[in-house]
Amino acid sequence: MDRSLAIDYERLASMDTKIKKTRKRLLLRVAAGLSAAALVLAVVGVWQRHNLLAHVLRLRPELAPQAPAEEGVEWFDDYYTVEELAPGLYAIGEPRYHQLNYNYLIVGEREALLFDAGPGVRDIRPVVRSLTSLPYTAVFSHLHYDHVAHGQFERLAMVDLPHLRARAGEAGALPLLAKEHLGHVEGIEAPVLQVTRWLAPDETIELGGRRVRVLYTPGHTTDSISLYDEDARILLSGDWFTEYLGIFLSNGSNREMRASIQLALATVSPEVTIYPAHKYEPGTRAPRPLGYTDLEAALAGMDAVIEGQLRPSSRLYPTRFDLSDRVVLYADIPMLQRNVVSYPELLPPDP
Ligand SMILES: [Zn+2]
Repeated sequence: MDRSLAIDYERLASMDTKIKKTRKRLLLRVAAGLSAAALVLAVVGVWQRHNLLAHVLRLRPELAPQAPAEEGVEWFDDYYTVEELAPGLYAIGEPRYHQLNYNYLIVGEREALLFDAGPGVRDIRPVVRSLTSLPYTAVFSHLHYDHVAHGQFERLAMVDLPHLRARAGEAGALPLLAKEHLGHVEGIEAPVLQVTRWLAPDETIELGGRRVRVLYTPGHTTDSISLYDEDARILLSGDWFTEYLGIFLSNGSNREMRASIQLALATVSPEVTIYPAHKYEPGTRAPRPLGYTDLEAALAGMDAVIEGQLRPSSRLYPTRFDLSDRVVLYADIPMLQRNVVSYPELLPPDP
C-alpha cells in the first residue's frame, strides 16, 4: 500500500475536524451576535416604549368626517363644536380630531377662563371670541401637546410649581420640554409659553359672580390641574380623571394619581359633575361626565393596585387594570411604575 495515501487520509481527517471546529465557533459567534442584537432591541423597545406607543396611536386618519351635530350642539365651523353645558360653561369640541379633545370656557361677569386649547389643528381664539367679548385667560390642564395648542394667548395662567417657575424665570417665558409636551409624535414643535399669571394650588380665581378653584391633581403628569366651579358643582378634570386613567407616559405616577383622587374627594361636592378633556364614545356631545362615586371607586382601585391586590386584565404595555365597571387604569409596566410624589406638601399624605 502507498504510504503517501495513508498520510493524506490522516491529513484529511484532521482538516475535517478543523473545519467542524471552525464551523462550530462561527455558529456560536453568530448566535451570540443575534442574542446581543435581540437584547439591544428589547432594551431600546422598553426604554422608548412611550414614544413607540405614541407613534402607534398616531396611525389614525388626520380628521374624521364631519358628523351631524347632536341636540344642543352646534358646529362653529367645519372643525369646532360648541355646547353650553350650564349657564356660562361651554364645551368647545374637536370631534374630528382623532383624540376627540374637549376644551371648556367658563364665563363670569367680568372675565372668562379657557381651560385647554386642544392640539392647535385650528385656531381656537375665534371660537372663544364668538362666545364672549370679555377678557379671558387661557390655562392648561397639563402640558401635553394636545392641550396647549401653540400656546399663544394674550393672558396665560400656569400652575405655580417650583420646577416650572424656575424654568420660566423672571420674564415668565416657559419653554416646554419634549418629555412633558410629546408633540414630536405628531410633528408639533414644543412652544415657549409666555406666562402672565401664576396660579397657586388651591387658589380661587374670581371671574365676577363666579369662583373657580384650582386643584393640583397630578398623576397623569406632574403638572396636571383641575378646575372646580363650586357653585355649579362642576369639576373640569383634564386628562387627570377620565374613564381611562393614564399613568403610563413619562410623567405619570400611581401615588400621585391616588393622592389626587383623595384630594378631589375631600374637596368637591358629592353631587359633582366631572367633565374630562377627551371623549371615548362617538358623537358630537361633550364627554359623558363622571361623578363622585367614580372617584370613590377609583380610589379603592388605586389602593388595590398599589398594594398588589388587583391583577392586571392585560399585561401588555400599557398594563391595564379595571378599577371599576367605568374606570380603567393604564399603567407603566409593573417593574417600571413610578411611585414618585414630586410635591408631597401639596397633596394628602399616604394612608
Ligand atoms: Zn390629552
